[in-house]
Amino acid sequence: MDFELSPEQKEIQALTRDFVRAEVEPHAAEWDREHYFPREVFGRLAQLGLMGVCVPEEYGGAGADFLSYMLVLEELSRGDAGVGVTVAVHTSAVTLPLLRFGTDEQRTRFVPPLAHGELIGAFALTEAEAGSDAGALRTSATREGDGWRISGAKQFISTAEYAGTFLLFARTDQDTPGARGISAFVLDARDVSVTGREEKLGLNSSTTNSISVDAVVDADRLLHEEGKGFHVAMATLDGGRIGIAAQAVGIAQAAYDVAREYAKERHAFGRPIVSFQAIQHKLADMATEIDAARLLVHRAAWLKQNDQPHTEAGAKAKLFASEMARRQTGEAIQILGGYGYTKEFPVERYYRDAKITEIYEGTSEIQRLVIARSILGLQEPALTQS
Ligand SMILES: Cc1cc2nc3c(=O)[nH]c(=O)nc-3n(C[C@H](O)[C@H](O)[C@H](O)COP(=O)(O)OP(=O)(O)OC[C@H]3O[C@@H](n4cnc5c(N)ncnc54)[C@H](O)[C@@H]3O)c2cc1C
Repeated sequence: MDFELSPEQKEIQALTRDFVRAEVEPHAAEWDREHYFPREVFGRLAQLGLMGVCVPEEYGGAGADFLSYMLVLEELSRGDAGVGVTVAVHTSAVTLPLLRFGTDEQRTRFVPPLAHGELIGAFALTEAEAGSDAGALRTSATREGDGWRISGAKQFISTAEYAGTFLLFARTDQDTPGARGISAFVLDARDVSVTGREEKLGLNSSTTNSISVDAVVDADRLLHEEGKGFHVAMATLDGGRIGIAAQAVGIAQAAYDVAREYAKERHAFGRPIVSFQAIQHKLADMATEIDAARLLVHRAAWLKQNDQPHTEAGAKAKLFASEMARRQTGEAIQILGGYGYTKEFPVERYYRDAKITEIYEGTSEIQRLVIARSILGLQEPALTQS
């Protein structure tokens, strides 16, 4: 077993870290305050090859491995969780499923503009009445001429306002309820109307939109087989949630960095607060839990890039990392005391941003369900975002 990152992985990590320090971190508080989506950052990330870091070079990517991509997501989220999730959805939830499930023609046509960052990807599964229970979705796809008429509404769609390519899920078999009648489609921005933008607790540099669709698309927009869309969605989330775990690790690391330095500077009772054992223990717990979460992420990423089963490992990584990030960003506020609760320091933003990692790409309750099914060898009902 080798815990050392390869020279290439270290290089990609350092490249991302330098970029984040120079072009993300200094602006993150303002983007959060102004609810500003930093479109320009994704152009710069594309120039560095980071909008398709684990996409093969023949499709316009950087050709690195999945673990390198996890390192990128951790570093981006350490600077700004909204930037992190935009790249995570774009890559894990759109580009990679197109590569895996697309025909040669679909791969050649749709992947390079995403990998080059010319277009941003959005993943449109959730509906008002279908979140964890994604198999309940109602958006319909019916045959029209040689193609499909797609009609319906989706909500909570990250980056829809800025996206050029949508991976959208619709029911092709109206008579079959649940997971089996669903298919996946590749849509363009012109096929979709953005109907709203959520006001959120955090993650303010990422947009979360409702959309409606009423479009006729060609037959070649069907991804994978008709009726197999739920499988596409679940396989996508299996990999995607490893990325959300990496995002959680990045947010927690940022909070720990601030708390540790603050504890050395802040004095109480004539001593730096870091000299109090209570504060030392908090920092020790933070460092330990961040390490544990990171190791779970790296193991799940390793399994995935070696084509080994990774559903249970990915769910464990997301469950632990997201709950750890919520807990430890709270402890960072505690270490900063009253200042931690103010906007003078970034830890309150980290706390707000960490919470979402327990919800999207499958809630913690759904991760526990996935893990329980796996360890108990239970039959998969295949009806939840798992
Ligand atoms: C900021 C943000 C960005 C998002 N981005 C996207 C995106 O890009 N694309 C997309 O398609 N979706 C996206 N989502 C949607 C997200 O994936 C869902 O919100 C999430 O899966 C939960 O679904 P829900 O909100 O409908 O909650 P519900 O499914 O209604 O769940 C409510 C509660 O019930 C629990 N629950 C539900 N079923 C079970 C069960 N079987 N056992 C135990 N407990 C259960 C849940 O864990 C939760 O605590 C986003 C959401 C947010 C907030």
